[in-house]
Amino acid sequence: MIIAIASGKGGTGKTAIATSLALAAKRPLRFLDCDVEAPNAALFLKPKLEHRKPVGIPIPVIDEELCSYCGRCAAVCEFHAIAIMGNKSLIFPELCHGCGSCTLICPEHAIRERIDTIGVLEGGSALPEIQFAQGILNIGEPMAVPVIRELKKWSFPSPTGQINPIEQTSPASSNGLEIRDAPPGASCPVVETLRGADFAILVTEPTPFGYHDLRQVVEICRDLNIPAGVIINRDGIGEKTVEEFCASEGLPILMRIPLQRNLAQALAQGETIYTADVRFRAPFEQLLTKIRGIGHV
Ligand code: SF4
Ligand code: SF4
Repeated sequence: MIIAIASGKGGTGKTAIATSLALAAKRPLRFLDCDVEAPNAALFLKPKLEHRKPVGIPIPVIDEELCSYCGRCAAVCEFHAIAIMGNKSLIFPELCHGCGSCTLICPEHAIRERIDTIGVLEGGSALPEIQFAQGILNIGEPMAVPVIRELKKWSFPSPTGQINPIEQTSPASSNGLEIRDAPPGASCPVVETLRGADFAILVTEPTPFGYHDLRQVVEICRDLNIPAGVIINRDGIGEKTVEEFCASEGLPILMRIPLQRNLAQALAQGETIYTADVRFRAPFEQLLTKIRGIGHV
């Protein structure tokens, strides 16, 4: 079973929920920090990172000797990363998604590809039997999706043996568990994190921003046909709009976490909700059972 934890709005406590679920769930499990622009789950799970793998994308390079300036490469590029102007070609690597279409379409075989490194994957073990991996996008790089895509596919040896990426399965029958901590927002990196998940836990807070961004991420889940449930963090601080929205959309509220000073202090010191307050142990331990019990999963 693959569970993605997403939020829409940043700062709702998504990583706090994801790491607590990892500690509460039956192991072995695989934990992926897909928030590649600012990964921070390692602060809570404290993995020993022993494996590294660079992530690159193929960027076209045009051989001016072979190019006939026909413009087909520029026409096929959806991202406007190539321009042909008279007898001059221009490539904008920061716009290139590395899809390879221009190389394929060139009738003169004038395009070769160079690999530009855009980030790195790091992996290792956190506690016995938690295989941990995170992606880190290089500073200034705009393309988070290729790093997340590679992170999802990555396998590396761990003390308990080679652990391979978990296939999407029926949660009711699955033995393996993969937890993905998604980036904030509702754009392509979130979509890539959610793609292939069996269930999405959407973490929100009862504020206008929380409500607004929850709606966006619910739409993504619907488009990807991923069932979802909601955890309301900082419960009681604001308005009822989130609850009314969940009721009207048939979204189950899986857990409520009130705003508590002791939790804020513990998180600031690198502790998880699960370890900081015993009252949350049972709710986190029962979360997977609750998810499996939701009929449409
Ligand atoms: S498709 Fe090939 S030949 Fe045509 S402009 Fe592009 S690089 Fe040149
Ligand atoms: S690889 Fe794809 S995105 Fe990059 S320039 Fe070629 S067609 Fe455009």
